[in-house]
Amino acid sequence: MANSIVQVTTEDGIDPGQLRRAKARRPLKRVAGRLLYESHLSSPIWRDRALIALFHRIDDRHASNQITCSTTLFRQFCDFFARHFHVIPLTDLLARLAGGADISRQLAITFDDGYRDNFTFAAAELRKRGLPATFFLTTDFIGTDITPWWDAELGIRSEWMTWNDARALHGQGFDLGAHTCTHADCGCVSGTDAHREIHGAKARLEQELGAAVRHFAFPYGGPERMTEANRAIVQEAGFESCLAAHGGVVTPGDSPFRLCRVPVNSWYTSPYQFGFEAVRMAMRSPRGSANRASAGSSTSPNDIPSERAIENA
Ligand SMILES: [Zn+2]
Repeated sequence: MANSIVQVTTEDGIDPGQLRRAKARRPLKRVAGRLLYESHLSSPIWRDRALIALFHRIDDRHASNQITCSTTLFRQFCDFFARHFHVIPLTDLLARLAGGADISRQLAITFDDGYRDNFTFAAAELRKRGLPATFFLTTDFIGTDITPWWDAELGIRSEWMTWNDARALHGQGFDLGAHTCTHADCGCVSGTDAHREIHGAKARLEQELGAAVRHFAFPYGGPERMTEANRAIVQEAGFESCLAAHGGVVTPGDSPFRLCRVPVNSWYTSPYQFGFEAVRMAMRSPRGSANRASAGSSTSPNDIPSERAIENA
């Protein structure tokens, strides 16, 4: 699996010229995004629309890496979310969805994998602003020096939280969720392997935290990375939600087991560019579309490199 946007986008059939033009439009989208949000023109677009943002690593040493956000940009995203959205815990967003309450402009912040900077840096920035968040941990990575393939290919040494870090995060009021034991591809694993990855991650987290773990995010996150059989195992394990990592907003009637997220990755050079693209996703999402099976590609604006291209680890 290629790691650069150019390589994979080319595989996806977008030529390098198109990609260059898309990159050249990013500053314009940043300006348009600022206008949309500062003028409140975006407000009606977010009626009955919520957003779940997805971060991975926050680390200036790897800021050009696709799944990494610089510390400066992360602070800008926190300020942008606090200023223009109602940031609420994922559990509260699910309760609003289940109860038919208004979800307009609600936003939940999530992190996948369990990178240590989530604890050492991001949590403090979130706390400064009173922003809740959910951290999805790959349980077998926690407290180890395992370097998975996507970091190994780039010569990056992965740094994971310890279980003490995880317990401290939980103690600070943040929510922790499961992301399998080994970062398994839930589009491939089945049977006892799938059972171990899904039930096992929940059991380990609950044992380490001494608290119920209610949310599950499947690794890689593309629509093809979760089978219906494994989605059933997630439900059977007692999770209350199952989150993807492909682009799309949340709409009333969405199943909690088919929730889309919008990854924050190196494609975005500004939260206003992200906000502009998110508005386009909100505008394209059909109203009243309950239980969408696969909303990713259909709701992604054409010139964001595909989720596969950005590879959401
Ligand atoms: Zn992941």
